[in-house]
Amino acid sequence: MFREVIEMSNGEKEITPESAPEEVAPESTPEKETTPEKKTILEMLIEVVGKESVSDSELERVIYSGDPSVLPQFHYRWKGKYLADYAVRVENVNEIEGILKIARENNIPVIPRGGASSCMSSSSPSRGGISLDIKPMNKILEINKEGLFVRGGPGVTFKGLENELEKQGLTLGIYPSSAKSAVFGGWVGCGGKGGIGTPLYGGLKDHIISLSVIGGNGSIQVLEKDEDINLFLDSYGILGVIFEIKLRIHEIVGEYKTLSYAFETIDGLCSALEEITMLETKPVYLKIADDELQKYSNPLEMGKYVLSVTYVDVTIDIFENLDSITRNSVGAYISDEFSNKEWDLRYDCEFNPKQHTETLMFQEYWIPIEKVRDMLFAFEKYRRTHKIPTLWFGMLGTQFEMRLNLMVMIDAAQYLKFIAGKGILHKMMKKAIKLGGGPYTIGLQNSIYMSRAYPERLIEMQEAKDKWDPIGIMNPDRVTSCLTSYRRIDLLFVLATAFRRLSRYVGK
Ligand SMILES: Cc1cc2nc3c(=O)[nH]c(=O)nc-3n(C[C@H](O)[C@H](O)[C@H](O)COP(=O)(O)OP(=O)(O)OC[C@H]3O[C@@H](n4cnc5c(N)ncnc54)[C@H](O)[C@@H]3O)c2cc1C
Repeated sequence: MFREVIEMSNGEKEITPESAPEEVAPESTPEKETTPEKKTILEMLIEVVGKESVSDSELERVIYSGDPSVLPQFHYRWKGKYLADYAVRVENVNEIEGILKIARENNIPVIPRGGASSCMSSSSPSRGGISLDIKPMNKILEINKEGLFVRGGPGVTFKGLENELEKQGLTLGIYPSSAKSAVFGGWVGCGGKGGIGTPLYGGLKDHIISLSVIGGNGSIQVLEKDEDINLFLDSYGILGVIFEIKLRIHEIVGEYKTLSYAFETIDGLCSALEEITMLETKPVYLKIADDELQKYSNPLEMGKYVLSVTYVDVTIDIFENLDSITRNSVGAYISDEFSNKEWDLRYDCEFNPKQHTETLMFQEYWIPIEKVRDMLFAFEKYRRTHKIPTLWFGMLGTQFEMRLNLMVMIDAAQYLKFIAGKGILHKMMKKAIKLGGGPYTIGLQNSIYMSRAYPERLIEMQEAKDKWDPIGIMNPDRVTSCLTSYRRIDLLFVLATAFRRLSRYVGK
């Protein structure tokens, strides 16, 4: 459907924004024929948002096309046309409306982009097009202390807003641990199921009062009914653009206190995890990790695994409960100093290892609590068999589910190792689906799992896509369709992991 666009931009790599449309020679050679068209589109985009807010320079297109899940070049080639043709920054709904109109009329993909922290290529182009940066729409429009709600643009960062609320004795209650860079629109786009605060206050779906949206079809609506909100929540920008969000907030009710326990075995760790989630008092934050992950933030001086749990106002009851649960699971309290640091590091610990490796390859899983143990055992087994440096981190999302992040540290230039690493994460996804879980983030990379992990959601979103974006300009190849097939990926990764194992013997 977007073939025309791809070809058009291929012929125009050398054009800079300065080479304005007027400079185009009227009698162009066939090769140059694509040039006036692109210039016209560039010119049209400039008319909507102004010259300062559009770019087709290679540098900006690269900046607006990636995310932290950096992958080597061959992966990009396999993915398709990963570079945006234009980077466009929007400041209000009129501008979004104008850009979407141009996109519809010219069949150009539009990729809404927030902090780009969701990874899995959620806001990275797959067929070129317009990378639509919504971060300039970062105004906090209202903080309502009496009604306990807040209204803001999609570009408001969670950390920035939480800082503002704190000054008034208020809190969002929930935010992703990527709160420093993640913005409103981005977390809504990804579903906001699990984050800091969600075990106690519920996910984003329990907090959204309304979403103001503009569909790919140009229709502008304020969504207030749960079933309508639910479509745009977790939609990865495939239906349209969210341009205003109204969220419930909370009063700050007490002090946060973190308690950290060390365990020697996965069994002990998971038994404690299961019991703690069953307690009546729910934590604000609960994290588990292995010593490999801890090494890069808050190294463990005892045990191999850590469970850190934060409550609002720890009562003596909670303390005694935790003490007895962790003792029964052969765990031990670490220290106040360690525990306090765990809370301070809540934004950073997950990604710190990235600074110490060429590529931090990872996959996020949404796993029923009672199945976390099976997942970790399986991953540990792969770690031993394949001798690939791995590490992991889990964060309680709800009382019943955990966001589990399995990671491989790898040099992407080592092709076989790299593909084998991806193969292990793929096999873990197959296991997760069997266990009743699935991918946490969908994005571009995980859309192949939709029909297996979330078949009902897939049908719901296909119907919504037909309604909100019938031409298919909005963030293609995500959720309802994908660039490649599950079978192809499955075969590739099964072969890669087998080759990797064989290569060890051949090497010997
Ligand atoms: C260190 C780290 C910690 C993380 N912790 C958590 C966590 O605790 N919980 C969690 O759920 N996730 C977490 N994530 C994943 C990610 O940060 C979140 O999902 C985050 O909310 C994404 O926000 P973003 O602004 O970066 O969105 P982006 O990555 O830019 O976009 C996400 C998706 O939403 C779409 N989108 C963006 N803006 C709009 C809009 N205005 N309208 C329509 N669609 C839009 C995009 O097209 C894309 O598909 C973490 C990631 C990292 C790197």
